[in-house]
Formats: sequence, structure tokens, C-alpha cells
Amino acid sequence: MTDKKYKTLIVWFRRDLRLHDNAALFEAIAQAEMVIPLFVFDPAILERADTGAARVTFLVDALGVLDANLQKAGGRLIIRRGSVPEEILKAVEEFGADGVFHHREYEPMGKARDEAVAKALAERGKVCEAFSGLSLFEPGEILSQARTPYTVFGPYKRQWFDRPAEGPLPAPHAITLPQGTKSDPLPTAAELKFTTTQKFECGGEDAAHEILYEFVKTKIDEYDTERDILGSDGTSRLSRHLHLGTISPRFIIDTVRRAGRESAGRTTFLSELAWHDFYLQILVHFPHVAGGAFRPHYDALEWENDEELFAAWKEGRTGYPIVDAAMRQLNSEAWMHNRGRMIVASFLTKDLLIDWRKGERYFMQQLVDGDLSANNGGWQWAAGTGTDAQPYFRIFNPTSQGEKFDPNGTYVKEWVPELSRVPAKFIHQPWKLSEAEREHLGCSEYPQPVVDHAIQRGRALALYGKVSKS
Ligand SMILES: Cc1cc2nc3c(=O)[nH]c(=O)nc-3n(C[C@H](O)[C@H](O)[C@H](O)COP(=O)(O)OP(=O)(O)OC[C@H]3O[C@@H](n4cnc5c(N)ncnc54)[C@H](O)[C@@H]3O)c2cc1C
Repeated sequence: MTDKKYKTLIVWFRRDLRLHDNAALFEAIAQAEMVIPLFVFDPAILERADTGAARVTFLVDALGVLDANLQKAGGRLIIRRGSVPEEILKAVEEFGADGVFHHREYEPMGKARDEAVAKALAERGKVCEAFSGLSLFEPGEILSQARTPYTVFGPYKRQWFDRPAEGPLPAPHAITLPQGTKSDPLPTAAELKFTTTQKFECGGEDAAHEILYEFVKTKIDEYDTERDILGSDGTSRLSRHLHLGTISPRFIIDTVRRAGRESAGRTTFLSELAWHDFYLQILVHFPHVAGGAFRPHYDALEWENDEELFAAWKEGRTGYPIVDAAMRQLNSEAWMHNRGRMIVASFLTKDLLIDWRKGERYFMQQLVDGDLSANNGGWQWAAGTGTDAQPYFRIFNPTSQGEKFDPNGTYVKEWVPELSRVPAKFIHQPWKLSEAEREHLGCSEYPQPVVDHAIQRGRALALYGKVSKS
């Protein structure tokens, strides 16, 4: 006799590809005699225009690691390909499962899918339980005194820091799988029709832990001063892992807090993680941000949307070295430094007068960490249409941003090799070199600025001024 509540439960993995701090897996093992870990490749996600090859490549790799780690505990990952909820219902039937445990999803498409699955399971008398796992606190847990969601980061962050949080759950030691459970083979990204020339680190949960421990050991205390320097590798690079849940925010925060002494670097790092939760709760409470401006009057902005300028921006040939370096980093590494993201987003909207949603989508297609809520929050911040947005009349100057955050041009020279011999004095404004100097320094092929920042600044102010309420 067993005292477990269920005989068999399916744990449906999605953006929680880990064994540590996995509430759905932990609870399923506690409550069922047998547990079936399942992942479904859903065409509805794979065929979306903003699903990029880098994320699919990273996903497939992380699933391989998850399977290997599940096997060490006596289980294995069962792979299926097909539409949800059909594949979930088929698996429930095939394995005679009592139901499905999974983590809660907040993106509009994921929420709708989960509601459909829960309904279909309920109609068949099966259980469907959702757990918290994407953020430290659930959207809705941190509210203002008036019980309304925060739309300004400062007070949200203060509560986020002060509120007691539970520690992470341990990884399971033993998983009991029903006999003869069969899986489809794990497809490669190419088999799923995704290929990329971008080069980036993968490695699933094991890599995520290594990165975190190394970051906490060697970099975190200088994070507050190094994080904004473009040429310095001063950030954690954990975003891709947070996006697919190969590590949980709770695990990261617990590791940082347990590592000992306080430092400004640690506090700054934790407050960056709070941004992750902040934007998630914005998406949940204000779902209209997924398609339009947080402040809807900005939807009336009359963008110019010049396709040639958009192509120059995407390809990193705008003639503004800091913009081009950042875009080339994105195109080759599937990742971009946060300061770079702010600069190129401001440049697209305020200098090129192109709709922020076009940039948002391009980022989603290219980024290995592309994440609807963080990406949307970042874009709306830069475009001045969002929650805590910088006011529209504060416009980043790409030259002074370069001089401030890449003072020696190290970052520009890494990503724009045509400029590698240009002295620091001109690295952020090579257009000031004479033709003979450009020839001599080997950068005559580097484009002249596609627009004049001073002129475009005035035009942006006029564009925003027409619709602004402030
Ligand atoms: C226009 C724009 C688009 C962005 N798109 C994304 C995106 O698609 N996915 C994404 O994860 N982040 C996005 N960000 C936020 C930020 O740039 C990245 O999280 C960060 O650069 C990732 O590198 P890291 O892991 O080394 O960050 P670290 O500096 O080490 O920060 C640690 C973690 O905190 C979180 N974080 C840090 N800054 C932010 C922020 N501003 N907003 C939300 N979370 C944050 C991330 O999860 C990050 O991994 C965007 C920012 C801007 C301005």
C-alpha cells in the first residue's frame, strides 16, 4: 500500500527545464507513485514569426541536458511533437495518468493554451495543477497599498527586496517511471527547420549553475560599476537560462544571498532581477502591452518606417559605430549587452523614427534570451511609451553614449573591425576624419551616418509632441 494521492502524473515541462527548484516536478513526485516528464514541440509556437533559431537551438540543447539529468534520477524525458492540447490528452490516455502538473505561464498565448488544456482535462475528470516558478513572486503578490499593480519600478523593487521569499526546492533523487515508457527522439534544431550561424553558449541546467557560481565568485561584487561598460564582460549572461527556466530566479537569489557578505554589486544585481519580475507583472496586469503602447495615446505616433533605414539598423551599417557594434553583436552572438539594447532601441525609434514594435520583433527573432515581457518592457522604456519610461524628450545621443560607455572604443573595435585602427578620439564619430585619414586608417568602406542625429532629434520631438499628453 502507498499513501500517495495519485498513481501516475504527467509533469509537463515548458519554460522550467530544470530539476532544481521545480515545484511541478517536486509536487508530482511527492503526490504520485509514478511520474512522466513530458515535453511537447508545439507547431503553434515553432511557427510563430518571432520564434528565432537561437532560442530553438538553445531549447533543444537544454532538453538534452534535462533528459540526461532525469535519467540519472531514474526517469527520462518523453518527447512528443504535435498540437497542444491534443498531445497532452493523448499522453494522459496512453499512460493512464490521473492528470498533469506544470508551471504557470503568463504570456497571452501560453495562458490561453493552458486554459484550454485545463478545461479539456477537467472534462475528462483529470487533475491539472499549476505552480509558481517563473518569477520570485507571482504577478499580483506585490501590490500597492491601494491593492493595484505597481507601474513604477522603485516602490515595486522596495517591496520585492523586503518581502520574505521561500528558498528553492531540492532536486529529486528518484523518479519512478512506468515500465516501457516510449519517447519520440529529441529532434535537432535543423530537423525543426531552424538553423543559424550565430554562436552562443548552450548547456542547459548544468551550464546555468556553472555560470552562476563563477559569476558569484568572480564578478558580482564589481557588477555595479562594470555592468554598464560595453567592452567589459561584467554581467551574468544568465538571461537565456532565466527565459527557458534552466535556472529559477529563486535559486539564483538564494545562491547570491548565501554567498556571504553584502556589496553594492550584489544589491545592484538583485535589483536587475527584480526588473525581470516587474515586467512580467506588467504584462499580466496590462496585457495590451503585447501589441501596443502601455500608454495607449502613443499608438497614434506617425512612424516613418523607412525600410532602407530599418535594413541598415538590422545589419549594423548605420554609420554610428556604437549602434553598429551592438547590432553586429546581436546578429553574431544572439545576445546584446543591456546598454547596447537601450542605445539601439532609442536610435531606432528616436533617430530613425521606426515603430518600436518592428525592433521588438527583430530582437525576438535574433535573441537567445528573447522574452516577451522583458523585451517589451525594454523597448517601451526606450521608446518612451512604457511604464517607467524615460520621458520622450530625453533622447540618447549615440556619440556621447559611446564615449561614456565605451570610452576607449574596445567594444566598437571588437564588433566593427573596419574601425580597429581609428584612434579613441574619433572612434565614436569617424565621420569627422578626412577622406585621406579614412583611407589611411583603412575605414573608407565604413558608411557615413545614415541620418543626422541633431536633425532627427528635432523631428522626433515634433513627432512625439503631436501625441504626447505630458
Ligand atoms: C530594448 C531592450 C530589450 C530587451 N530584451 C530582453 C529580452 O528579450 N530578454 C531578457 O531577458 N532581457 C531583455 N532585456 C533586459 C536586459 O537587457 C537583459 O536581461 C540583459 O542584458 C541580459 O544579460 P545578463 O543576463 O548578462 O544580465 P545581468 O545584467 O546579469 O542581469 C541579471 C538578470 O536580470 C534580468 N534583467 C536585467 N536587466 C533587466 C531588464 N532591464 N529588464 C528585465 N530583466 C532584466 C535578466 O533576467 C538578467 O539575466 C532588454 C532590454 C532592453 C533595453
